[in-house]
Amino acid sequence: MKLSIFSIMSIFFMLNPAWGFTLNNTVAAYFPGNDIPVNVAAHTCTNLGVSNQDLLEMVDEAVNNYWNKAPNSRLRLRKGSLTSVAAAFQTEPGCTSNNGSCTPNPNLIVTGGILISCNIDTGTPANFSAGVMAVTIPNNIQGRNINGSLILLNDKLDNSFKSKSHDEQVAILAHEIGHGIGLGHSPVEDSLMYYASIPTRRSLGWDDLDGLAYLYPTGQPFTGCGSLSTNHDEQNSSGGPGAFLATLALGMVLALVFTKRRAFWH
Ligand SMILES: [Zn+2]
Repeated sequence: MKLSIFSIMSIFFMLNPAWGFTLNNTVAAYFPGNDIPVNVAAHTCTNLGVSNQDLLEMVDEAVNNYWNKAPNSRLRLRKGSLTSVAAAFQTEPGCTSNNGSCTPNPNLIVTGGILISCNIDTGTPANFSAGVMAVTIPNNIQGRNINGSLILLNDKLDNSFKSKSHDEQVAILAHEIGHGIGLGHSPVEDSLMYYASIPTRRSLGWDDLDGLAYLYPTGQPFTGCGSLSTNHDEQNSSGGPGAFLATLALGMVLALVFTKRRAFWH
């Protein structure tokens, strides 16, 4: 049996199916600015087990330990401030209907940035059951621009956020912030945007990076007319260091393939 390099690659991709990040809205909306504050509502959290100031400090960890570490994104999230908001942010549900898709509550529109608010959800039907730690909605979208996103933390008596470790709480906030910037869930457990909280989570996964790069690609600085140096072409054609390394790499790959063929098919 002869196996070509193409066959080997095909088997590799069959064993490693392509995963995909998802978005949480149908228009692929994103924050148009690069510098997005994450504020915390100033009212007291009743049952969450942490203070508002604690939450604000956790926001700092959530953005800097996760999203701001991505090298492939123009987005820079930052800890905002304690912000006074209407009482509705503490009591009303984020969605007035939530049967598969959310109809944002018009009383809770966030004017700018991301707002985190403790919420006891007195709505009918309630958005929160004990296992739901938060509801996040980019609830101020114009065209493809997100102007504001709302994160409501389940502050009911039976919330499960309060029993998590500090690091897991930070990861939960980072996950919700991910929804706030436009990302949906990933099917990959390795990703922060996986639908369930993983207690040992400490970093972004590939899907998170892919989704971030899709919504917030880095831009190349524009330095004038695009040009291509002839030196680069000459270096490759005349066998400079680049050509040498490429030849060396190709040789190693071919040697590896040849060795494997001998080992497995002879
Ligand atoms: Zn989620």
